[in-house]
Amino acid sequence: MSCARLGLSLLLLAALGWAQDERGSEDSAHPKREGPGHSHWSYADKAQWQSSFPDCGGQRQSPIDIDTNSTVFGHELQPIVLAGYNLDPSERLSLRNNGHTVVLKLPGSLTIASGYSQEYRAKQLHLHWGSPEGPGSEHTVDGRRYDGELHMVYYNPSYRSFEEAMRQPGGLAVLAAFLQAGPEDNVHYQPLLEQLPEVREEGKETTVAGFNIKRLLPSNISRYYRYSGSLTTPPCSQTVNWTVFNQTVLLSQKQISLLQNALQGDDDEALQNNFRQTQSLHGRKVLASFQPAIGA
Ligand SMILES: [Zn+2]
Repeated sequence: MSCARLGLSLLLLAALGWAQDERGSEDSAHPKREGPGHSHWSYADKAQWQSSFPDCGGQRQSPIDIDTNSTVFGHELQPIVLAGYNLDPSERLSLRNNGHTVVLKLPGSLTIASGYSQEYRAKQLHLHWGSPEGPGSEHTVDGRRYDGELHMVYYNPSYRSFEEAMRQPGGLAVLAAFLQAGPEDNVHYQPLLEQLPEVREEGKETTVAGFNIKRLLPSNISRYYRYSGSLTTPPCSQTVNWTVFNQTVLLSQKQISLLQNALQGDDDEALQNNFRQTQSLHGRKVLASFQPAIGA
């Protein structure tokens, strides 16, 4: 074999090996070798996130426990104004099971027009939930965990893309609402929930007809908590301006159960308990848009 041919063979072998590694890391549920920036992570190995994603070990992480006795009234906090949420049914939105949650893509025409120091543009919404054995919100209030949590994710449009905004201070905003079992079906969640069986397996995608996205939020969005934190999943970027609404959204127990049991994640197992444990504040202040009730 000539030198040139040997060189070419080695090059081919190297290329093949590289291709297998790339595919292997995507396909296998729990790869043994995980380098920095590895794209695979799971809720089962939360303690390991920071070895691949250093920000996950930072000091401005989310979620947090909101200790209502320690919150500070933020007189500068403005009412949140949402624009463009009543979508026409002719508009089709992508709904996908990404193995960690169910994600509804949102048009950038949905904005937070006011309530922050700049406008934010919608990217997607997704949910966190528990299991029949226990609740699964990410944030907790005075130590109480709710059945689930809705996250609407936004980015600052002065950056070219969501990915770029994700790396910039104040680049992202998330509106969070607690979900709790109540006596009646919540009709506003039906368009989303009834499509869950269509995306049962990881990687599955379907579409949802446009509906009034704002109705997924509490009817009273004037009372909220605000703090600086992070994405609650890798890469845990510490660039999120959080708004956590005080009023809880009620779904029926049947709807909560559907959410807990409709999807599968890795290894064809039920996708449940997709929440991260609360993180230390490390001196951060949590602002409230309202004065606490006297004596409460
Ligand atoms: Zn989330």
